[in-house]
Amino acid sequence: LALHEAHPICFYNAELQQKAEFQSRIDSLQQRALARKEFEVWYQPKYDLVTRKCIGAEVLVRWRSRELGFLAPGQFIPRFESNGFITQLDFYMLSRVMEFQKRRHATGVPVVTISVNQSRLHMQEKNYLTYMQRLKTYYEARDIELELTETAFDLNTPELRQHALHVMRALHEMGFRLSLDDFGSGYSDLTLLNAIPLDVMKIDRSLLLASQGTKRMQAVLARMIDLGHALSMTVICEGIETREQEDMLRSCGCDQGQGYLYGKPMPEEEFELFLLQHI
Ligand code: C2E
Ligand code: CA
Ligand code: CA
Ligand code: CA
Repeated sequence: LALHEAHPICFYNAELQQKAEFQSRIDSLQQRALARKEFEVWYQPKYDLVTRKCIGAEVLVRWRSRELGFLAPGQFIPRFESNGFITQLDFYMLSRVMEFQKRRHATGVPVVTISVNQSRLHMQEKNYLTYMQRLKTYYEARDIELELTETAFDLNTPELRQHALHVMRALHEMGFRLSLDDFGSGYSDLTLLNAIPLDVMKIDRSLLLASQGTKRMQAVLARMIDLGHALSMTVICEGIETREQEDMLRSCGCDQGQGYLYGKPMPEEEFELFLLQHI
């Protein structure tokens, strides 16, 4: 029996089994976790590359689970995308950000734009706009930005795609700023840039890494930034870790940056202290 258990296929099965068990534990815990407020809203600063001041933040979820421990998004977001829970979580994150902004407005401290990630799944849900409209009656959309990746518009039928474009235009009319996230990481459909009223082009970290040390890729990066500007978009690059990367991006005309160089994602209280010193 011991020999049999040591067979590589059995190891493989055991690993798969473990993974499947973890996924179904997520399924059974997610709703309770939301009710218990186990999902935490973390903020990662965004910087103006010229003034080197904090001009905003992106919100990133963390799960402090009683049963599973402290989890990063990579450990549960893919599951939430496949079981559909992500749409609920996104609404929760957005409402928390709205409370944050509302409170800062009320206390008279400076308000910076906060961006939240929106899953591609929203584009296929009929009541997304209705829900966003309802959230908006609670807090204006002005200082809130929505980050969506191109995959949100990679839809099967022309009808679905039309619907997604309609949703984006409606969100923009409601006052949300729209950002195209992870730009340049996949097969970019450049017609999207014209079809959606985008405010921000967010360049993927992989492109930043690819343009280090090669003049040709640096030229590609610079032309992408030009393209964003030609379409009146603000251009931000994610994943900046070094001063050299920052200098290179600034010389290519990039407006804003986000990355460990400026700050890692941090809990809300910490971010408010951060703002006091870096705004
Ligand atoms: P993303 O939207 O591309 O977010 C950027 C990710 O890069 C974050 O990972 C962030 O911590 C990480 N990062 C930031 N600066 C640096 C850097 O200088 N170097 C490196 N190597 N990484 C950096 P995180 O927090 O683990 O989130 C991973 C992904 O999970 C996000 O990628 C986003 O797609 C998704 N996600 C996170 N929160 C939410 C959410 O509330 N809703 C949805 N739908 N997705 C979320
Ligand atoms: Ca993002
Ligand atoms: Ca991103
Ligand atoms: Ca990315």
